[in-house]
Amino acid sequence: MSTIKAAVCHEFGAPLTIDDVQLRGPEMGEIEVTLDAVAICHSDITFIDGGWGGSLPAVYGHEAAGIVSNVGTGVVGLSEGDSVVVTLIRACGNCSSCAEGAPTLCSTPYDGDHGPLKTADGGKLHQAMACGAFAEKVVVDQRQVVKIAPDIPKDAAALLACGVITGVGAVINAAELRAGQDVVVIGAGGVGLNAIQGARIAGARRIVAVDMSEEKLEIAKSFGATDGVLATVEKPWRAAKAAMGRGADAVIVTVGAIPAYEQAPQYLAYGGQVIMVGMPHSGAKAVYEPVNMAAVGQGMKGSKMGDVVIQRDIPWMVDMYGQGRLKLDELISGRWTLDQINEAIADTKSGSAKRNVIMFS
Ligand SMILES: [Zn+2]
Ligand SMILES: [Zn+2]
Repeated sequence: MSTIKAAVCHEFGAPLTIDDVQLRGPEMGEIEVTLDAVAICHSDITFIDGGWGGSLPAVYGHEAAGIVSNVGTGVVGLSEGDSVVVTLIRACGNCSSCAEGAPTLCSTPYDGDHGPLKTADGGKLHQAMACGAFAEKVVVDQRQVVKIAPDIPKDAAALLACGVITGVGAVINAAELRAGQDVVVIGAGGVGLNAIQGARIAGARRIVAVDMSEEKLEIAKSFGATDGVLATVEKPWRAAKAAMGRGADAVIVTVGAIPAYEQAPQYLAYGGQVIMVGMPHSGAKAVYEPVNMAAVGQGMKGSKMGDVVIQRDIPWMVDMYGQGRLKLDELISGRWTLDQINEAIADTKSGSAKRNVIMFS
């Protein structure tokens, strides 16, 4: 058991407080990672705001990188001192989804109320998203981490844990985009910019970014978008289709806004598909006309965490980063200390930020 500092959510919608909390050591199959960096994701903010409910008090944070500082029994291929990316993808390895090679859909539940965290006086403290990385250290299952070379900067590496794999994977794994196809990416935020660079890596012909902000459309172009369309214009799919000369083979919805979901099929070519990535609040409903999609072979498909297999996908992304073909440093808009986490969250909420990263050392 060690005492560490963590940013704790005691009440939805209230600022996080920096508390001393207890973290037990790694048990069978688990490792302890001393974190160097954790990024703030919009999912953390939705949880903090109460959008998805859940147990309190809780420690959020799930895009992290650091150094293995303790290893439980039965851990294979990882030892103290290794640099790792820590993800929230806790896959049991045994259920039918895991056996089929879809670990992001693992059906074995994880009970974060009985995880490695406790409050300073021994009370319940929820390890959110099987991670709890707004903290100096985490204890996670060995399958949640991927070893990386020690010289990869940890702030860049942390982004690989969620935003990057979600966006790039939506294009490569979920849409299975082929070279020469056309893509529309709705939302040019943290995930959207990665869907754009995924489309560039896949060899897309036209990559149309759609966003409410002119400034974000400009940033999108530096990540590989060939065209930008303001979401605020009337029937924005017309401008997108004009840029492509046709409809899109894939539309990646990276925002949780219902109008974005309702409009997404309008951008499609016959036979195209909408990849659903952005997460609206629970209970939000979208309206669309199934007949229009059935008649021309269109579809909608959810993609969780880019349908990644982290042990397969994170190493190639790290290599692409090393070669300068996957942008990570350019995604970071600010670096903060754990004590500044509420300011960093406010900055992310303001919409101007790409990714804000908490640095621990
Ligand atoms: Zn995330
Ligand atoms: Zn499983």
